[in-house]
Amino acid sequence: MKITHAYAAQDAKAKLAPFEFQPRELREKDVQIEILFCGVCHSDLHQARNEWRNTIYPVVPGHEIVGRVTAVGTQASKYKQGDIVGVGCLVDSCRSCPSCQEGLEQYCENGFVGTYNGTDRFDGSNTYGGYSSQIVVHEDFVLRVPENLELAGVAPLLCAGITTYSPLRHWNVGPGHKVGIVGLGGLGHMGVKLAHAMGAKVVLFTTSPSKIEDGKRLGADEVVISKDADQMAQHANSFDFILNTVAAQHDLDQFTTLLKRDGTMTLVGVPEHSHPSPAVFNLIFKRRSIAGSLIGGIAETQEMLDFCGKHGITSDIEMIDMDYINEAYERMLKSDVKYRFVIDIKSLRKQVA
Ligand code: NAP
Ligand code: ZN
Ligand code: ZN
Repeated sequence: MKITHAYAAQDAKAKLAPFEFQPRELREKDVQIEILFCGVCHSDLHQARNEWRNTIYPVVPGHEIVGRVTAVGTQASKYKQGDIVGVGCLVDSCRSCPSCQEGLEQYCENGFVGTYNGTDRFDGSNTYGGYSSQIVVHEDFVLRVPENLELAGVAPLLCAGITTYSPLRHWNVGPGHKVGIVGLGGLGHMGVKLAHAMGAKVVLFTTSPSKIEDGKRLGADEVVISKDADQMAQHANSFDFILNTVAAQHDLDQFTTLLKRDGTMTLVGVPEHSHPSPAVFNLIFKRRSIAGSLIGGIAETQEMLDFCGKHGITSDIEMIDMDYINEAYERMLKSDVKYRFVIDIKSLRKQVA
């Protein structure tokens, strides 16, 4: 099989740079995908820089993948050459534990296999992600892409979309609910769009006054500057649910006090350094909860893609060439992304041609 061209980080301090590797030979149920677009998730940056202290180098990030099927294994039946497909954060799991049996592969009790920085269950090799020209994945972890959606804007749905869709569904967000989305980045802007499409009243919390107009355009009924204590106080005790997507350590109490009795704030951001411990009084006096949520299972990811197809939802993107990735990371750290970088993988092919 032809060599895969990619971008990798060789250690926590290194910039991402060209890298090549030999893909595995197709197994019976594998699908080989020529990658067209790959979104840039803040998790890619955390992982490339070893901020979660578990990175295996070299690391090829990227788990928001859209591409075209170029070959399938002898026993693969779900996809055929030419199909447009997606791959998200998972490429395998044990498939037999209670979580896998329930279609919650992201909570696999034996550990799911990540699209990158994961360990292949058969040959023990390190998995490489979507900042690359092609990927080989078991057909059960490949998604169908709705035909009506623009492909570059679909790529971020594979992580940012499902990571916000899954908790919104799990906590039954819908008409009559007042829902807060904290942070207008890749995840947050999908949270705003999805919660709005589910029929909730949506309030966006942002630290960036420059994002107020965009927040409303994307579907927020109201935008609150979270650094403004007076604006925050007006929303005390009023939210059914808050989805917090912030990628950095911050004070959670300013948001828990905005929850109604029995309200929940779910954290999806995974900052390098833990948040300060939340005040217990804020929780016990109104039986409020702080929860967490991890991406979504394969069936729910397909459900999310179909929901986005039905509602015409894609990510707002800034398309970049592969060699812009290091600048893109710096801009992501300054919250300067509107609202997801997506790599045009054509630029990687051109670079090596
Ligand atoms: P992102 O595009 O960088 O967006 C994060 C947003 O957080 C920023 O745009 C900014 O929004 C806000 N923010 C940043 N620094 C802040 C600070 N110091 N205080 C308050 N707000 C701040 O990142 P992303 O790709 O959406 O990812 C967000 C987080 O989710 C990352 O930690 C990522 O690793 C994690 N993640 C988790 C899962 C999961 O399964 N749980 C999946 C994917 C990603 P404003 O400018 O609007 O304030
Ligand atoms: Zn991600
Ligand atoms: Zn399992």
